[in-house]
Amino acid sequence: MTGSPETLVIGIDLGGSKMAAGLVDGRLAIIESLEVRTPIESQESLIAGILSLVRGLVSRAPAPVSAAGFGIPSMIDQVRGRAVMSVNIPLADFDFVRHISGELGLPVFIDNDANVAALAEATAGAAAGAREVIMITLGTGIGGGIITGGEVYRGATGSAAELGHMVIDVNGPRCQGACENYGCFETMASGTALARYAAIYAEKEPDSALGKAAAAGMMLDGRLVCRLARQGDPAALKVMDLIGFYLGVGITNLVNIFNPEVLVVGGGLMGAGGLILDPAKKILAQRGLRPNRDVVRVTAAGFGPEAGVIGAACLALRELKKGR
Ligand SMILES: [Zn+2]
Repeated sequence: MTGSPETLVIGIDLGGSKMAAGLVDGRLAIIESLEVRTPIESQESLIAGILSLVRGLVSRAPAPVSAAGFGIPSMIDQVRGRAVMSVNIPLADFDFVRHISGELGLPVFIDNDANVAALAEATAGAAAGAREVIMITLGTGIGGGIITGGEVYRGATGSAAELGHMVIDVNGPRCQGACENYGCFETMASGTALARYAAIYAEKEPDSALGKAAAAGMMLDGRLVCRLARQGDPAALKVMDLIGFYLGVGITNLVNIFNPEVLVVGGGLMGAGGLILDPAKKILAQRGLRPNRDVVRVTAAGFGPEAGVIGAACLALRELKKGR
């Protein structure tokens, strides 16, 4: 429990395609929830959408709401409460906390979406009770969150834990979006990487199920490759092994540096489960430093898509408690 059970907060998960909000109590139970398409036409339409979503939930609350927490896919400046830069939503150099809090008449707390997911896992998910936790989320990119001493590690201004941009292969492909680097973790072990490896193996092994799927014009995404791998297709299995290998290399770096109790892996690509996590654990066992590699528990996330709402609510409840 992160607050008194009757405390009500709103947790908002601001995604590139949809925004989800939940009215959450101090036991982290979701009492009401709403989900709408994210208005990405402009910053103004996005802000208007956010305000109407939160007001919609406030109006349904059986008692006064104490605060709103937001998980935002942006680089955050915690000192000034600003969303500095975003990739998938039109939010840049925006005084988020001041503006949204003023409009709603509520205390507002913000953090990066991967940080709030980590907070959810460390509070009530796969790492519940642990104080040293690393979380990585595998999707189109790789998000990261670090919990140390039971608190989110934010760095000097709030934009730490960009674990997806740790370099795994200096000669690797150019990174995505605003990152100028090469061979970042997220270019080597994300859903984007998986699609690239799948195309390579489909061409190398045209007689495999993966090769035939490519020839039939099917999209070689995580879901398809995962299904073919489960059916035993050797080419699809090689793709999963390769993702697992690079995931293992990245996890080994993180475990050596941070000595976490638990390392949680979440995100859409974790639908593949052991297909990528088992080879990753093997790399950690072979290459990690002792005692770190022996201490850490590497596990799949406990929360699914609701992690964002729960995590944002956790953020609000924790910050309220600190303010008391
Ligand atoms: Zn990068």
